[in-house]
Amino acid sequence: MPATPPPLRILILGGTTEATALCHMLEGDSAFAPTLSLAGVTKNPALPTLPYRIGGFGGRDGLQCWLHTNKVQAIIDATHPFAATMSHTVSLTARELGIPLLRLERPEWQATARDNWQRVPSIQAAACTLADPAGLGKTPLTVFLTTGRKETQPFQAAPQHHYILRSIEAPVPEALPPITTLITAKGPFDLAAELATFQHYGITHLVTKNSGGSATFAKIEAARTCSLPVIMINRPAAALTRTVATAQEAMTWLQHQGAATVRAV
Ligand code: NAP
Repeated sequence: MPATPPPLRILILGGTTEATALCHMLEGDSAFAPTLSLAGVTKNPALPTLPYRIGGFGGRDGLQCWLHTNKVQAIIDATHPFAATMSHTVSLTARELGIPLLRLERPEWQATARDNWQRVPSIQAAACTLADPAGLGKTPLTVFLTTGRKETQPFQAAPQHHYILRSIEAPVPEALPPITTLITAKGPFDLAAELATFQHYGITHLVTKNSGGSATFAKIEAARTCSLPVIMINRPAAALTRTVATAQEAMTWLQHQGAATVRAV
């Protein structure tokens, strides 16, 4: 009988629903030896029943050292579409070390004829749009801010508005605009709940990243239903890495990598 090949050693850079889904597919599959890596930004992350590590690697050198020490044979970059630093670092490092890398990234949301989106390139640009004295800055608005607790400071430049900030964990108070109401909540959110939030707070504008996916899409539907304007922050430029949209496609790629490694031995 032929000997069973050793499992393929994989690093999964996570922090997303897609990474979690892939980890669930890999659980108990003896063909793979995966490690999930999380940045450590969320206090109580959902963890799979497979090996994991938490915290930054320490830049390119740290990542290179970790990949080398753990003899990693394939990498899945399933970080959030806005986690541009990590994606950039891993694409450079994987190329340097010759380790196959796949990007697992959910598609962007697309505007329909019923949407009123103003697209901006960054959080700073979203804040500038709200500060503009000749535009949205003219009259106080009630802004639903859903860009995360770490990125509230730029909105201090538009202090005339009331911000309804929703984040998973509480932000640092010094980083908040002066009139802020905090909602701590974790998705997924449904349309009825989002409509109730819009109505309860009298929201006039939504500010969001174009994160994609279904977990937080209901706020886009709610803005559409209420005919409210959306300031949509475009994704940062993507690294030139082969990309798939679903955990199932990533699984297929891993199976090919596993087969290729066996052939190469
Ligand atoms: P980032 O700006 O791209 O990365 C900042 C630093 O965090 C990286 O240089 C790296 O530190 C560390 N890091 C990021 N992802 C990591 C991972 N999966 N494992 C180990 N270290 C990681 O990332 P970010 O925007 O702060 O996001 C941090 C994490 O939250 C990501 O894993 C992302 O998937 C998740 N997330 C982000 C957003 C968002 O809107 N940005 C939304 C939801 C979830 P070292 O240089 O020390 O290695």
